[in-house]
Amino acid sequence: MQAHEENRDIAPIALVTGGSGGIGKAVALGLASDGFDIWLNYRSNSAAAQNICQAVTALGRQCLTLPFDVTDVAALNAALDPLLELHTPFALINNAGITRDVMFGLMSCAQWNDVLDVHLNGFFYVTRKLVPLMQRARRGRIVTIVSTSGQMGMAGQVNYAAAKAGLMGATRALARELGRRNVLVNAVAPGFISTAMTEGLPLKEYMKNVPLGRPGTPEEVAGCVRFLCSPMASYVTGQVLSVNGGLYM
Ligand code: NDP
Repeated sequence: MQAHEENRDIAPIALVTGGSGGIGKAVALGLASDGFDIWLNYRSNSAAAQNICQAVTALGRQCLTLPFDVTDVAALNAALDPLLELHTPFALINNAGITRDVMFGLMSCAQWNDVLDVHLNGFFYVTRKLVPLMQRARRGRIVTIVSTSGQMGMAGQVNYAAAKAGLMGATRALARELGRRNVLVNAVAPGFISTAMTEGLPLKEYMKNVPLGRPGTPEEVAGCVRFLCSPMASYVTGQVLSVNGGLYM
């Protein structure tokens, strides 16, 4: 899979939010293998981000680390504005995410607000920076990482399921707005994937409901993101592509 050969006038750059985590790393390295230079956003884990950047460079692509919180408009403007004056990324991967799992009756306002803030407001703040540029370029791919939790609901994740379901709605609506400009907008919905986010969960118990009988890997999620950013997905927009071992059909 190669980055778009025809896009000589814009650098094949992919901005990956939450790039220091498990899925973000696999997405960054996968897209770098496909020919993208990477803008790697993260919030706090500089050591991981630097390691991933080195691995991208080892693949022969450029990598910029962009530490900012996706909920902090001033910080993301400061990081992105100078870059966006020079470049229009071909791909945006909205991947930054957190969980604050607790049963609904015990959920605090902070647990509700923090999860909606990172997922929904983070999507809005970052995506709106790139959309006008992609519209002008008449090409682009926006892929947002959602979750099986937003499709079928998971106990203890009312906040997270609400945020991810909201992102699926936003994906479909934005796909309708941007289709005529050849900007394709899709979501990838992972099930249980082995990363820091699922550490400590009783995955063995959960696997009883997964037809494939095992958790997924970050690379298996990245494979779908790579497809959606590739020429092979040129007629795919407004879709939610599930990567869940059959957990939700
Ligand atoms: P990780 O915890 O491994 O990584 C999360 C990433 O998000 C880190 O890079 C973290 O940065 C970053 N991040 C968190 N908050 C912010 C913020 N406010 N601003 C910028 N970056 C932020 O999780 P995963 O890799 O597993 O998750 C990636 C995405 O996939 C998330 O959206 C998650 O909801 C989704 N997902 C994951 C599933 C799973 O089973 N793992 C299943 C379904 C969906 P840092 O660590 O530097 O602070």
